[in-house]
Amino acid sequence: MNEMSPQECAEQLEMLLDWPTLKNPIYTDAVHYSAALCHKLAAGELVEVVHAHWNIVNKQYFCTACGDENEESTEFCPCCGADMDGKDDNNAK
Ligand SMILES: [Zn+2]
Repeated sequence: MNEMSPQECAEQLEMLLDWPTLKNPIYTDAVHYSAALCHKLAAGELVEVVHAHWNIVNKQYFCTACGDENEESTEFCPCCGADMDGKDDNNAK
């Protein structure tokens, strides 16, 4: 795969907007949206979502991503921000 930075990718996508075949609003909207996402990625505004779950030991909740202890089950870990939806834990063993 050709390695390019998110900023370069955004610039390449924006050049596509000059192509005559991309004058269809469906395509231009998709390219604008994709370029905006690449700009956000380049600016560090998008980060990988960490999925985890609460491991319950002695009525205490432990985040499977960072190990932090919590008093209750919450939607996101207050320590590391992991999404506690239990989907494919990034740190699953
Ligand atoms: Zn955590």
